[in-house]
Amino acid sequence: MMLPSREQIERAAYERWERRGRFHGADREDWVAAEMDTVFELNYQTVAEFWLAEPDQRVIGDVRRPRCRFCEQAPPRAAFSCVRPAVPELVGNSSLFTRELCDECAQQFADTIDAEFARFWESLEALRAGTASFREIRAPMAIPIAAYKCLSRMALSLMPEQELSSFTDAIEWVSNPDHAFDRSLFDSSGCLVYQAHVPYRAAWAGLSCRIEEDAPFPYMIFFLGAERLILQMHLPLCALDEDLDGTEVRIPQRSFSTGTGPDLKTSTCLVLPLKSAADPSRTRRFRLLW
Ligand SMILES: [Zn+2]
Repeated sequence: MMLPSREQIERAAYERWERRGRFHGADREDWVAAEMDTVFELNYQTVAEFWLAEPDQRVIGDVRRPRCRFCEQAPPRAAFSCVRPAVPELVGNSSLFTRELCDECAQQFADTIDAEFARFWESLEALRAGTASFREIRAPMAIPIAAYKCLSRMALSLMPEQELSSFTDAIEWVSNPDHAFDRSLFDSSGCLVYQAHVPYRAAWAGLSCRIEEDAPFPYMIFFLGAERLILQMHLPLCALDEDLDGTEVRIPQRSFSTGTGPDLKTSTCLVLPLKSAADPSRTRRFRLLW
């Protein structure tokens, strides 16, 4: 694991101080944010990033040879009657589509994991709009497994093709309509919800992957931002995470700072463990780096 040196954090904190117009009084916040962001930058690289409300439509996948990323079928065994949103439209996606989702898988997702995600997203409405903070509302205490699956399917939908081979188990799991799960496989799984100080101008989604093979971080992390909210989760069941079995996996956290000048502020963060539909009472905390 690459940990930043004191000088690196100092430099990043100093840059933040300059960004806020050399306004004093947020030294502690600047230091913590600088540390979080430098750890992330030293250990992760961005492999995909999309604004989701672009004027031009962007479609993932080959127009001549569509193949479903989830059931792995191609025509004529699977039908592809239209391009489909790579990320649900309800988060504000109007420009990112995929050809690599067949009609049958799309229908199954719509009835199950997409519907569950829509309910979860709805439960975050006041946080998204910024009319309430984590302290003021009854924020969800956990994320339902089906909503978490839906986030995984978004990540898999926009993942660069060469990364997919490390996620065959994850793909099978996402495609499985049975949401019961082996808890031991998901001990360190869950979702981070950040509330940013200033809303984003448009929804966005991104994927970052671990730089060093043996760092105790999950390999692939997915981010989805909209309005004032950012969801962060790591993709479970990754072949490249098998070596981490038995070690304590750390979940990196970012500052997601927004605002300008003296108004530059870090986001607040809430940790949501996974909730199983079969066993809703038991949730497990997972360990953050901070
Ligand atoms: Zn399919």
